[in-house]
Amino acid sequence: MNPIITALLLSFASAPAGLGAQPGQPWTIESGPRSSQVNESTARGYAALPASVLVSVGAEVSYAREGVVVQVGAHQVAVANGAAQVTVDGTARPLAHAVYAESGVVFLPVDFFRELLPGLTDGRVRVDVARRSIRGSAARQAGAVAATEEVTPAVEPVPMRAPQRKLVVVDAGHGGRDPGASGPGGTREKNVTLAVARRLAAILREDPSLEVRMTRDRDTLIALHDRARLANRWRDEGQPALFISVHCNANPSRSEKGYETYFLAEARTADARRVEAFENASVKYEEAPVGGPMAFILTDLRQNQHLRESSDWAQLVQNRLREIHPGPNRGVKQAGFAVLRGAFMPAVLVEIGFVSNPTEERLLNGEEMQREVAAQLARSVHDFFARTQQASASR
Ligand SMILES: [Zn+2]
Repeated sequence: MNPIITALLLSFASAPAGLGAQPGQPWTIESGPRSSQVNESTARGYAALPASVLVSVGAEVSYAREGVVVQVGAHQVAVANGAAQVTVDGTARPLAHAVYAESGVVFLPVDFFRELLPGLTDGRVRVDVARRSIRGSAARQAGAVAATEEVTPAVEPVPMRAPQRKLVVVDAGHGGRDPGASGPGGTREKNVTLAVARRLAAILREDPSLEVRMTRDRDTLIALHDRARLANRWRDEGQPALFISVHCNANPSRSEKGYETYFLAEARTADARRVEAFENASVKYEEAPVGGPMAFILTDLRQNQHLRESSDWAQLVQNRLREIHPGPNRGVKQAGFAVLRGAFMPAVLVEIGFVSNPTEERLLNGEEMQREVAAQLARSVHDFFARTQQASASR
């Protein structure tokens, strides 16, 4: 298996299963010279392992919107989210528990590994549930040479699929009849956010490993909840993704200045509540809201899983802006932004400066500042993905 794909898939496995959740028992996966550890999840009341374990033992895993397709030796296994069965070469095979997806990770109940995996590999992969170990290789050639000790293949096997591109959703705050904040010199927030968002998207698109989408690329109003909904629709199952909403701050006191980055949570300070109230007021320009209270609760639960990653990323954004911004660095903050609430991926809202401060207003209007801010935001995206890949490589 291509190590890059393995690293990418393992990075999904490393995503926290939720704040406060107990990490499950570790399993040891040994395949050839490679050994790795992965934690089982008991989030649904039964032990399950991420689909990436199959990659570690040499199966080819591809992600589709409905689930996962695994090529194990000569067998094709289709795995659907929510089903207490898998389909092997077109025939349904029941499982004691259901397959599920969480935080972009597809989990298979342990009985899949115990009951089906050894047979699918003609015994080349051995599963010991008591010792929590999975040993062997699903690849047929590797099985054939197992008896003659380690033989390193001369050529790294070519992956069946190119590594999945990572999705970055760039959201320019406000737009259309919602101007956002206004500066003393007449600057409108919606124009600055669009200019920076366009530059950010252009820089990110130079990286072929990224898929870059903008919620708007012209002066139009997109409802707050639709921005997150668009982001979710663009994301494929299992695809690593980030969401960034670009804004400018404003304060009745014109001396306020600097930059701050928010992730979604209950607002902690009076100032965070003020910014939250202002940004959420965009709703007044929108049509009637959609979704009942239940939709909100579900959204909240799913969002919760990404809190830690969102707060990490917010810190990376602040670190990068510090390198170019006159400041002050107002830090990472928490607030309940409607635009972040529905995004099922790490999401932040960055306030790149105060249009209400005459000096910062001039800066934010300038091409140089817009270019530099966009470049630093792009670097923070790369920082985030590099960190998640590193975390999975070191386990
Ligand atoms: Zn705003």
